[in-house]
Amino acid sequence: MPDSVFDVCVIGGGPGGYVAAIRAAQLGLSTLLVEKDATLGGTCVNVGCIPSKALLTSSEHYEFAKTHAREHGIGVGELTLDLATMLARKTEVVAQNTRGLDFLMRKNKITRVQGVGTLTQGNAVDVQLADGTRESYRAKSVILATGSVPVELPFLTFDEERVLSNVGALSIPEVPKHLVVIGGGVIGLELGSVWRRLGARVTVVELMPTILPGNDADVIKEAEKVFRKQGLEIRTGTKVTGGKREAGGVHIEIEKDGAAETLEADYVLVAVGRKPALLGVDAKALGLALGKRGEIVVDDQMRTNLPDVYAIGDAVGGMLLAHKAEEEGVVAAEVIAGKPARMHYKSIPAIVYTWPEIAAVGLTEQQVKESGRAYTTGKFPFSANGRARTAGETAGFVKLIADAKTDELLGAHLIGPQVSELVAELVLAFEYDGSSEDVGITVHGHPTLSEAVKEAALGVLGRAIHI
Ligand SMILES: Cc1cc2nc3c(=O)[nH]c(=O)nc-3n(C[C@H](O)[C@H](O)[C@H](O)COP(=O)(O)OP(=O)(O)OC[C@H]3O[C@@H](n4cnc5c(N)ncnc54)[C@H](O)[C@@H]3O)c2cc1C
Repeated sequence: MPDSVFDVCVIGGGPGGYVAAIRAAQLGLSTLLVEKDATLGGTCVNVGCIPSKALLTSSEHYEFAKTHAREHGIGVGELTLDLATMLARKTEVVAQNTRGLDFLMRKNKITRVQGVGTLTQGNAVDVQLADGTRESYRAKSVILATGSVPVELPFLTFDEERVLSNVGALSIPEVPKHLVVIGGGVIGLELGSVWRRLGARVTVVELMPTILPGNDADVIKEAEKVFRKQGLEIRTGTKVTGGKREAGGVHIEIEKDGAAETLEADYVLVAVGRKPALLGVDAKALGLALGKRGEIVVDDQMRTNLPDVYAIGDAVGGMLLAHKAEEEGVVAAEVIAGKPARMHYKSIPAIVYTWPEIAAVGLTEQQVKESGRAYTTGKFPFSANGRARTAGETAGFVKLIADAKTDELLGAHLIGPQVSELVAELVLAFEYDGSSEDVGITVHGHPTLSEAVKEAALGVLGRAIHI
C-alpha cells in the first residue's frame, strides 16, 4: 500500500521496533514496519540474546554431564559432543521465535515490508526491496529503530570465518583449540563461556583493569575468581596492539605494562562494544541531532529534534539491552497516540548469563559512595542458602545497598544461580521506590534461592536470620 498514509512507520524490526509496532497497533494506529531482513527480531532474536542463551543452556548441560553429574551419583557413560546438532537446535530455537513474531504481526494487523528503509524529508520512507525496486511510503510519525553493529578493530576486520563478531561466534563449526576473546564484557564472557565449556582453551583479553567494567566491585571480584577457577584465562589491563589473519588462524599481539607478547589462536572473537547503526538515516542531510558516540539524541518521550520523528533502542545509546529497547518502543508508540508516557531508566536490570549468572539494578556501591549519600549494605552468600546447597550451586551472593536514613533501595547486585530470575523481585521493588524492609518482611517460599534476596534485605537492617 505505498500510496496510503500510515499513522506510524517503524524502521527496523528488532525488539525495539517490533514492540513499538505492536503497541502502536494496539492503540488503534495504522502501522507499517520496514525491516531489511527476512526475519524479525533484529540482533536479539537472530544473532544475540536468543541464540546465545540457547548455546549457553546446551553447553551448561554438557558441562554438568562432564563435571558435576558424578557428584549426584549419575553416571553418563562415554560423553560425546554432537556440535552440529547443538548448533541446529540453536537455529531452530531462533526460528521458533521469529515464527512467533510473524504471527504477532498478523494478529495485530501490522503492514510489513521487507527492504532497506530510508527516511527522507517530510517523513516519507523510501524502501529498497530485495529485487532492487523502490517503494515510497508516508507516515504521520516515524520511529527509527535501526539498532547497532559491532565495533571492529582496524587490524582485525570481521571475516566471520576466523575473525568473528557475535554472528560468527554463534556458529563456529568446530570446537576451537584456542579462542581468543577480545573484550571482557557481557558478550565476550557469555560466548567465551560457551566454547570453554565445550572444550576450547579460551583467553579473554580486556583493556580495563577488570572484566565487566562498570559493575559493582564485589561482584567483579567474585566473577573473576569463579571464571578463573572454571578455566577461563583472563588477561586484564592488557591491550591488543595488532593482529593478523593467517592460514588456519589468527596472530594477535598484546601488551601489558609495556611488555609485548603474542597469542596464536585458531579463532578470535572481537567483542569490544557496539555502536549505533544509522542505515537509511542520513543525519546530516535530515538535520538529525546525534550525540558524541553517533547515537540519535532523544528526550524522555523518545522524540528526536525532527518533528514527528522518534528513535528507540540501541540506536539511541545508553544500555544496549533488548528490554530497554522494548520499553522505549512502548513509550514512543504511546506518546504518538497522545498518552503521557515517559521513559525512566532507574529500574532497568542488566544481566550476564554466565554461570554463575550476574544481575544488577540501580547504582553500584562505588556510585553511591561518590554521590556522598549515607548508605547501608546487606550481603547474603548462596553458601548459606538451603536451596543453593541442594543444587550444589553455592558460589556468589546477593548484595543490596539502601539509603541509611530512608532505607530506600539504591542498588542490587547479585551473582549466583538463576539470579537472572531473582532480580525481577528487586526490579519491582525499585520501580515502586521500595525499601529493604519491604523486601525483608515479605514471606519468601522455602527452600528457594529467593530467600537469599530476603536475607540480604534483612542484612541491611542488621537482622538477617541465617547468617
Ligand atoms: C551476542 C549478543 C547477546 C545479547 N544478549 C542480550 C541479552 O541476553 N539480553 C538483552 O537484553 N540484550 C542482549 N543483547 C543486546 C540486544 O540484542 C540489543 O540491545 C537489541 O537487539 C537492540 O534492539 P533494537 O531493536 O534497538 O536493535 P536491533 O535488534 O539491532 O534491530 C535493528 C533492526 O533494524 C533493522 N534495520 C536497520 N536499519 C534498517 C533500515 N534502514 N531498513 C530496514 N531495516 C533496518 C536491522 O536489520 C535489525 O533487524 C545481546 C546482543 C548480542 C550481540
